[in-house]
Amino acid sequence: MSARQKIVGMLGGGQLGRMSALAGAPLGLVTHLYSPDAADPASQVTPHHMIAAYEDREALAKFASLVDVITYEFENIPVETVRYLETLKPVYPSSHVLAIAQERIAEKTAMNAYDLPTTRFAAARSGADVVSVMDSWGVNRCILKTTRFGYDGKGQTLVKSSADADSGFSKLKADIVIVEDVVDFSCEISVIVARDTYGQVGSYAPSLNVHKDHILHTSTVPAPLPRELLKEAQQLAETLAKKIDLVGVLGVEMFVTNSNGLLINEIAPRPHNSGHWTMDACACSQFEQHMRAVAGMPLGDFSRHSDAVMTNLLGEDILQVPALLKNPHAHVHDYGKAEAKPGRKMGHVTVISR
Ligand code: AMP
Repeated sequence: MSARQKIVGMLGGGQLGRMSALAGAPLGLVTHLYSPDAADPASQVTPHHMIAAYEDREALAKFASLVDVITYEFENIPVETVRYLETLKPVYPSSHVLAIAQERIAEKTAMNAYDLPTTRFAAARSGADVVSVMDSWGVNRCILKTTRFGYDGKGQTLVKSSADADSGFSKLKADIVIVEDVVDFSCEISVIVARDTYGQVGSYAPSLNVHKDHILHTSTVPAPLPRELLKEAQQLAETLAKKIDLVGVLGVEMFVTNSNGLLINEIAPRPHNSGHWTMDACACSQFEQHMRAVAGMPLGDFSRHSDAVMTNLLGEDILQVPALLKNPHAHVHDYGKAEAKPGRKMGHVTVISR
């Protein structure tokens, strides 16, 4: 390894790791993967892959000895794993950021402590708790979510009346749930923000996100919303990045309420599906920003040179690739996954226009 090059250790081997590794290569960054699955899509783009469990301390120590800095590409890595690795090598984003992002009550509590807006929420340990929260708020509907490991709408249920509270609580099969006020939103947007080790912060233009069956379907930029609102969304994300001492990239999902207010719903301390459009419509992609930031390089240019619509290719949608390629403005990304299971993120396509 030459003095110019750095080895970035990546926990996880999914498409986000794959696109990060590809973005790091021109910068002289070599990615070493660590994940339990030899068939992970990122392993097709780097020959360095340690296949071991996230709890395997011996393997983690060996991995840490091989790399200069460590990051991760999905947020369900056990926080203890990251805390342990932090004793051996720098890990970005920190275990503090990861712990906040992994638990919805901690996440919303942290947002409110930073004066960042979220929907009203409370913890509940039984159906009776849910009813007392609803009574104290004076509402007859609420959303219950598991506090951990929820993604793509999994682990959530709408409670339509107090009479549904018990069955809603039981459905989630959890000891504790988060109760949220149902947000009357006009649309959902997200901001991808990055911060480097020198404290510089930047963010991309917010994307308008449309979900199908709770899974992201399209991200459109520019989002057709007032300029001031878009600016405010970027400011919220940038404030958050500074307050939590972020190093790396963070996706911030927000609701735009019917009265054009903003509420933060969820954060993810990694490149985000709703930021894939940056690969083809910006000077420097979210993946490059992430690799730059964790490797101690300055951030690149966040500016957008094109309008973009990113569409996820789920399951057998991937079979449309030959047809999509006929459009010269369509940028196709196939994640190289062998099996096209229904709902599985197989790739995405971004159509750009100037
Ligand atoms: P989440 O798992 O929190 O990302 O939620 C998945 C989707 O459920 C969001 O993208 C929203 O469309 C919807 N949703 C989540 N929380 C709320 C809420 N408090 N009020 C209304 N809709 C919500």
